[in-house]
Amino acid sequence: MAFDSLSEKLQNVFKNLRSKGRLTEEDVKAALKEVKMALLEADVNFKVVKNFVKTVQERAVGQDVMNSLTPGQMVIKLVNEELVNLMGSETTEIALKPSNEITVIMMCGLQGAGKTTTTAKIAGKLKQKGRRPLLAACDIYRPAAIEQLKVNGEKQGVEVFSMGTSHKPVDIAKAAIEHAAAHNENVVILDTAGRLHVDEDMMGELQEIKENIDIDQTILVVDSMTGQDAVNVAKTFHEKIEIDGVILTKLDGDTRGGAALSIRAVTGCPILYVGMGEKLSDLEQFYPDRMASRILGMGDVLTLIEKAEAEIDQDKAREMEKKFRKAEFDFNDFLEQIGQMKKMGGIKSILGMMPGMGLPADLDIDDDVFKGTEAIIYSMTPEERGNPALINPSRKKRIAKGAGVDIAEVNKLIKQFEQSRKMMKQMSGMMSGKGKKKGRF
Ligand code: GDP
Repeated sequence: MAFDSLSEKLQNVFKNLRSKGRLTEEDVKAALKEVKMALLEADVNFKVVKNFVKTVQERAVGQDVMNSLTPGQMVIKLVNEELVNLMGSETTEIALKPSNEITVIMMCGLQGAGKTTTTAKIAGKLKQKGRRPLLAACDIYRPAAIEQLKVNGEKQGVEVFSMGTSHKPVDIAKAAIEHAAAHNENVVILDTAGRLHVDEDMMGELQEIKENIDIDQTILVVDSMTGQDAVNVAKTFHEKIEIDGVILTKLDGDTRGGAALSIRAVTGCPILYVGMGEKLSDLEQFYPDRMASRILGMGDVLTLIEKAEAEIDQDKAREMEKKFRKAEFDFNDFLEQIGQMKKMGGIKSILGMMPGMGLPADLDIDDDVFKGTEAIIYSMTPEERGNPALINPSRKKRIAKGAGVDIAEVNKLIKQFEQSRKMMKQMSGMMSGKGKKKGRF
């Protein structure tokens, strides 16, 4: 899978950080050094890595990470935010004109990058959006490319316009636009010719098309498996013909991910889509935030949120949030939370989607882990659950007996409870501070 090795390395770095509890500035520095190594091994552009680590380091010092309650988590949060920034922060769509006008998209890229396949994939996406695309075969050097476009176009149920190999690409493009106008098609996608390497002829041809035709979007297709070569290709194309966005293909086979992490920072051009396989449906919109989550092994937080929204009583959740903020929650609320967790599919399913929880597949944990805790809480009187401070040593003994556990278990639970209450209080102070980004962590 994409990013596997980078992901594994980063997760190891963070596992060490988390296990430390308190961190010194040296710990953070050492961890960031490892992050740097991991990024370089993933073939991320050297300058990009240098800036990345510098920014995280500066932010870590600036935000007084070392004095926070969870310094390890704070560092991970910063790395996550900077990864998102690196990949462009927001999702960029292919800009289309209104449906009653024709949008012209020029696809370009080196031979073998996946241009022709991607052209057909994009046509499928546009069709799904209710557009009527026309594919234009402008690669006059490879009859096989024209044939491939026809086959793929047919699979997508999209018309392919071709004039064979004896006309100039710019003339084919012009004729295709006229054809689209006459046939009520509103997006023309030009599949241009690639070369094995960047060369003057290819650039000249693309420039000629751009000079003679109103191109709305110039999209470059690059093979992510070529790493920094892909980044250099993107840089050159952008300098010569100005591109509006990049599509990264073959991310499904790219365990390193260096191109995905560098292209935006090096060229300033957004990644629009990523190719995740050979099938015509294997094209995914590029979400920088979801990609960062994947890289950091933070699981599918979005799915978790969607699930929570579907299962949790919103009023109760708001009430609970208020209690958390004021650190007023008690053992009754704790029981309520265990119930909610069970409703959301049980602890294992939730942990699997939680940030920072790379769960081993054979993890043997189920909701029974709460049984002991529940038994202790049920042995308390309702007053005690509401105010654990009432529980004196003799009551502790009785509670332990009632729950069938050792008194040490009762002490532990009460202590943990007091600690989390204290932590909530400090966190709520932190969250209401300046600079908090909503919606992350
Ligand atoms: P072009 O020369 O740039 O037009 O490249 P093609 O569209 O002919 O693609 C070259 C090869 O890459 C073909 O075998 C495609 O099936 C394959 N390919 C394209 N995109 C992807 C992708 O996202 N993932 C994988 N695994 N293969 C891809």
